[in-house]
Amino acid sequence: MKILVINAGSSSLKYQLFDMDDNSVIAKGLAERIGMESGKLTHKYGENTKQEYVVETQFKDHTSAIQLVLEALVDKDHGVIADVSEIGAVGHRVLHGGDKFTASCIIDDACKQAIKDCIPLGPLHNPANLMGIEACEAVMAGTPQVAVFDTAFHQTMPPKAFMYGVPMKYYKEHAVRRYGFHGTSHRFVSGRAIEVLKAHGQKADKIIVCHLGNGSSLSAVVDGKCVDTSMGLTPLEGVLMGTRSGNVDPAVVEFIANKEGISVTDTLNMLNKKSGLLGISGVSSDMRDVNTAANEGNADARLALDMWAYGIRKYIGSYAAAMGGLDAIIFTAGIGENDAAGRANVLKGLEFLGVEVDEEANKVRGKEAMISKPGSKVVSWVIPTNEELAIAMDTLELTASK
Ligand code: AMP
Repeated sequence: MKILVINAGSSSLKYQLFDMDDNSVIAKGLAERIGMESGKLTHKYGENTKQEYVVETQFKDHTSAIQLVLEALVDKDHGVIADVSEIGAVGHRVLHGGDKFTASCIIDDACKQAIKDCIPLGPLHNPANLMGIEACEAVMAGTPQVAVFDTAFHQTMPPKAFMYGVPMKYYKEHAVRRYGFHGTSHRFVSGRAIEVLKAHGQKADKIIVCHLGNGSSLSAVVDGKCVDTSMGLTPLEGVLMGTRSGNVDPAVVEFIANKEGISVTDTLNMLNKKSGLLGISGVSSDMRDVNTAANEGNADARLALDMWAYGIRKYIGSYAAAMGGLDAIIFTAGIGENDAAGRANVLKGLEFLGVEVDEEANKVRGKEAMISKPGSKVVSWVIPTNEELAIAMDTLELTASK
C-alpha cells in the first residue's frame, strides 16, 4: 500500500509518498508560498528521491497545492504511480491534540471538530493542519485520512508532571498545562530504543530521549510510556534551541517589554525566533555554524554551545531523579544524530550516574549505534528519528483493516 504523509503549514505543504511494502520513500516534496502571488512546487523522485522537478505557479489555496502534488505524483515523466487511487490513505501531522487525543485517529467530523477545539492551544499550526486535511478531502474524496498528533505520546504524563503551579482555574477553564511536542519522534525513537536495547541484553525500563534539532526536547520514558517532557503549553519551554530561549523566568517578558517599549507578543516572538543558539552566539541558529565559529575562537559561540549542553545535562539529571534511576540516554534529530562533540559535551560530567562515553563509537553520524563503552552502567545510543515514517505506520495501522 502507498501512503501519502502531509505536513501542512500556513503557507507551505510538505509531503512524502511511502511504499509500505518496504517502508521506502518513493517521492517527496514541498509546495511553498501557498496563497501568495507566486508559488513553487519542488518535487523529488527517482532513485533515492535524487531527481528534482520544479514548477513555479500560483497556489490559490492548499487545495490547489495538493492538486498539483497529485498531478506530479502521476505525471508520465516525473511521476511514481500510475493513478491517484494507488494511494491507500493519507496521514497528516497535526501539532496540537490538547488532552483530547492520546493516539492517532481516523479523520471524521468529530476528529476535525476536536482539532478545531484545540486551535487556541496551537493557533498557528492547527488551522494550517486543518487546511491540509480539508484540501485532501476535496481532491481525494473517499481516501481514508489519519491525524497524528505531536502531543499525543506525552498524554501519559501524570498531573504532577504536567501541571503548572498556577491557580487551578487556569487549567480547568483554559486547559493551561504542559503538553509537550515532538511526540511522534519521542514515540518512534523510544520504541525503537527499547527494541534495540533488549536485543543487546540491556535494560530499557527507564530511558531519556534527547530530540536535539533546530527545535529540541527531552522526554523521560518509563516502560515505554512518557512520564515527563521538557516542552510545555507551547514549544518554547525547555532547553536552549536554535532560535528559542527555552526556560526563562516569566518576569523577563514584562521586563524586556517595558525596557524596549514592545508588546508581550513581540517579546514572545523574540524568545521564539531570535533567541537560543542564534541569540547567544549572534552567528546562526544552525549548530554547524555555531560549532565553526566556536572553533575559530568566537567566545559567544562557545558560550552558546556550553549553555546548550549544560541545560540538556541538567534535564538528564532531573529526569534520572524523577524516574528514580536511568538505564539509557538516547540521542536523535539533526544535532543528536550528527554532532559528536555536542553529544560528548552533554554527557561530560554524567560519569557519576554511570555514563561512560566511547570516544571512537561516538564519532557515528546519522546511524543507529551505541556510543557508550561496553558494560557502561547507563548506556547511550544514537537512534535516528523518522517522524514521517511513524506517521505513515500509524496511518497504515489505522486504515489497513478498513
Ligand atoms: P533538525 O531540526 O532535526 O532537522 O536538525 C537541524 C539541526 O541539526 C541544525 O542545527 C543543524 O546544524 C544540525 N546538524 C545537522 N547536521 C549536523 C552535523 N553534522 N553536525 C552538527 N549539527 C548538525
